Amino acid sequence: MSRYLIDRIDALPNVEVHVGVEVAALEGDRESGLSAAVFRNFRDGAMQRCALRHMFLFIGAEPNSDWARGCVAADSKGFIVTGGGALPLETSRAGVFAIGDVRAGSTKRVAAAVGEGAAVVAQIHSMLSERAAKEPK
Ligand SMILES: Cc1cc2nc3c(=O)[nH]c(=O)nc-3n(C[C@H](O)[C@H](O)[C@H](O)COP(=O)(O)OP(=O)(O)OC[C@H]3O[C@@H](n4cnc5c(N)ncnc54)[C@H](O)[C@@H]3O)c2cc1C
Repeated sequence: MSRYLIDRIDALPNVEVHVGVEVAALEGDRESGLSAAVFRNFRDGAMQRCALRHMFLFIGAEPNSDWARGCVAADSKGFIVTGGGALPLETSRAGVFAIGDVRAGSTKRVAAAVGEGAAVVAQIHSMLSERAAKEPK
């Protein structure tokens, strides 16, 4: 998340930010709604119960790239590295491309991901035509 947004949220007097935790339980009922949440700390597993009425979960910043481990190069956080090969969006494995949020160094925005999606099509076409040109006639 952008630093300026974190700072603005942090500065709000009516918002409490909990980082490095996951939701272990929610309390409440249909009539009165949410009344509390129990957070589990990722580091030590400690539980913390907070009385609250509203909650916003910020998830989505961690790449789901474990399945590609050992197949393509990734940075220390699991974002897939591109640009070392023949084409800018190609990974460390020839013919395998990465675009959007999962790509190391990408701008984590919708428009950027869509743009990379458009760009990678041209790069795949280029790779295929180069391979076809090398094939014996
Ligand atoms: C809370 C939050 C708020 C945001 N707000 C904004 C905003 O206001 N403006 C903005 O421009 N951007 C915003 N972003 C960023 C934006 O959502 C991303 O940049 C964009 O969605 C990236 O698109 P993507 O296609 O690369 O990845 P994603 O949208 O994450 O799509 C990846 C897809 O792949 C699927 N997937 C994952 N693993 C596998 C697998 N193994 N097999 C099959 N499918 C799989 C996922 O389910 C998902 O559908 C926000 C992100 C978050 C988390």
